[in-house]
Amino acid sequence: MTMKNILTAAALSMALGGMATAAELVPLADESVETAKVLRDKALENDEAYELLASLTTEVGARLAASPKEAEAQAWAVAKFLELGFDRVWKEPVMVPKWTRLSESAHVAEPFAQPLTITALGKSVSTPEGGVQAEVAHFATFEDLKAADASEVEGKIVFISNRMERFKTGAGYGPAVRARGAGASEAARKGAKAILIRSIGTDTHRLPHTGGVNYEEDAPKIAAAALSNPDADQLVRILGYGETVQLDLTIQTTMEEPVEMFNVIGEVTGSEAPDEFVVLGSHLDSWDLGTGAIDDGAGVAITMAAANLIQDMAPKRPRRSIRVILFSAEELGLIGARQYAEAHEGKDIDKHIIGGESDFGAGPVWALASTVNPASLHVVDKMAALMGPLGVVRADRKAYGGPDVGQLGKVGMPVVDLMQDGTDYFDLHHTADDTLDKVDPVALRQNVAAWVVFTYLAADWPGSFR
Ligand SMILES: [Zn+2]
Repeated sequence: MTMKNILTAAALSMALGGMATAAELVPLADESVETAKVLRDKALENDEAYELLASLTTEVGARLAASPKEAEAQAWAVAKFLELGFDRVWKEPVMVPKWTRLSESAHVAEPFAQPLTITALGKSVSTPEGGVQAEVAHFATFEDLKAADASEVEGKIVFISNRMERFKTGAGYGPAVRARGAGASEAARKGAKAILIRSIGTDTHRLPHTGGVNYEEDAPKIAAAALSNPDADQLVRILGYGETVQLDLTIQTTMEEPVEMFNVIGEVTGSEAPDEFVVLGSHLDSWDLGTGAIDDGAGVAITMAAANLIQDMAPKRPRRSIRVILFSAEELGLIGARQYAEAHEGKDIDKHIIGGESDFGAGPVWALASTVNPASLHVVDKMAALMGPLGVVRADRKAYGGPDVGQLGKVGMPVVDLMQDGTDYFDLHHTADDTLDKVDPVALRQNVAAWVVFTYLAADWPGSFR
């Protein structure tokens, strides 16, 4: 077929309902498949991801966005990419507001005086001088707060007690997290002095979960904090006595002008189409409470190790380049990814062939989802088949690309999701317990093996996923 004939056939098949016909499919070479298999098996014996994760979490530790620790992590990443022999290593600037946690305390004053374990939510403002002493206005859910009359809230400390449900997919997070993101502005509009939420987490430890609060422009800003799950239970029991419950809450934080941080990028150059590349994403910043091992040190380590395994062990370089992007300031609102997407949208987004993100902890990959054109589905199906021995199935939903890489999906890049088992993820997520000892090295190897299959086949197949 001439190029014109191929285009005509494609146009015709689109007109007939968008289904690709066998004649126009760009085949996947047997050699590519064989290499992907070999690399997959090598990954299962390779502990590089664990070593990278141990290095990052030990030598840098927590790395709050825009803090000196995030800058240290970025220097760590540049040095590691160079040490591993990536062909191109560079940084792209990102402006990030600088939020700092200073102190936080809460206690019940009446009727049963006692301290409560809390953590300020990320980006929370301080309480006024002397803290807030006020009655609790309890709501079971964010929706109940929304429906409430201002007279129930005014002058009080709002408490939202919704409990996150545990699912393998993390599906309990979305409904629960509204209380954290939107609760403060909703409460403030109704005259609340501060807000406390039950931690958005599935554990029963006395460790509160932080995470970003999103202040809306048109609402006053009030201090926001999360109670650990057992403390939220305790407060619900105290409220159950039916008496007025008085709390004393003090939160001290600072918010400074944006500072220049960076998305750190390492690239393995392709052999035939080096200006086209497959994107592997994760975020280098973490919250300040743990050492960011599962969120998202694991993703950093998995994607760096997968690209490195290909450059070190493939008998020949794949056709296209592999671009590993370590985004800045995901936790403060996808700041690095949004700025990257903005910078590349009108420029070279068409060279971003396909991408995915590892940002759901360190549990094993169990399903592969994709958002690609129909004529490339046979390649994604082959990826899933090669991941089959790793315990991976083809997902029955579209991919969204993860929080950061999803921003590139929104501006037209095809995406995959290598879906991880998140059953335990929200026991640790955004807590002081997010530390290296929670990571299973065997599961980490399995992740790298799955990413190597996706990355190698996507980079070596000459067709388009768009
Ligand atoms: Zn994350």
